[in-house]
Amino acid sequence: MRYEERADPVILEPTDAIIRTVAVCVCGSDLWPYRAESAPPAPRPIGHEYVGIVESVGAGVTTVTAGDFVVGGFLHSDGTCAVCRKGATANCEHGGGFDGCQAELIRIPDADGTLIATPGQPAADLIPSLLALSDVMCTGWHAAVSAGVGPGSSVVVVGDGAVGLSGVLAASQLGATTVIAMSRHESRQQVALEFGATHIVADRGEEGLATVKELTDGIGADAVLECVGTAEARLQAVAAARPGGQIGLVGVPHGDLPTDELFWSNKGIRGGPAPVRAYLPLLIDMVWNRQIAPGKVFDLELPLSEVADAYRAMDERRAIKVLLRP
Ligand SMILES: [Zn+2]
Ligand SMILES: [Zn+2]
Repeated sequence: MRYEERADPVILEPTDAIIRTVAVCVCGSDLWPYRAESAPPAPRPIGHEYVGIVESVGAGVTTVTAGDFVVGGFLHSDGTCAVCRKGATANCEHGGGFDGCQAELIRIPDADGTLIATPGQPAADLIPSLLALSDVMCTGWHAAVSAGVGPGSSVVVVGDGAVGLSGVLAASQLGATTVIAMSRHESRQQVALEFGATHIVADRGEEGLATVKELTDGIGADAVLECVGTAEARLQAVAAARPGGQIGLVGVPHGDLPTDELFWSNKGIRGGPAPVRAYLPLLIDMVWNRQIAPGKVFDLELPLSEVADAYRAMDERRAIKVLLRP
């Protein structure tokens, strides 16, 4: 990982916007190419979480303009295709992912369907929370929505990374009355409690499941948010759901699901990459009104030039999530 000078991005399509970033961050998923086992064959720009100020827009952009403070997600979407009109913006027929956002200037395709301007220039303390909406908070929200969390739900959150912690916050905001965070790390447990966790379960495996059942009338939780993606975490999530319960999957899958067991126990699964753009209006509003402060997941802040240290800190789990200032 290194920091180097590159050419400034320019408008390529009339639907593009150029953003001068105010804050960017490192995602857990950025660690996959960082680690040797799935390293790219040649150096390439990286990063997909950002907030910033619009520098310029293409001739076809109508909803954001130079000077606006904007939040956007890790996928671009046109906002107009039949899939987007159903709200499933992560699966836009003309959308996709992009990289290179750990930079001072970035080009965002499909600006109208991807970015949202905040009601004004944000106070400094809101910037980490707005940045968290670029991925982790919307992803945690998607896990909770996918698992059908509502008033009175009992919820288990598997994973205590930034997404899992965001899932705790989402479950609590959606009205869950029992929110069980599975975490062995004291600093992460602390954030989970601040985000509304009612119980912390530090044990894993059979012992952890036994504790979950004790807390849920002996049957398991109504809703389980799976925010890791490993085979072990996915099995844990299925086991922690009650018969007829629902599992929201947002961890990038690295293992199969026991589909027969899901069938015989009437457990449902939903989830996938979060349709960030669809959740942004509500969640920007909640951050703006200081109802939620998802930016608490950032426990280390560094200048962008020290990006290599940010990756090291997250890889070694010394930091939950690192915010970078250009
Ligand atoms: Zn991300
Ligand atoms: Zn679309």
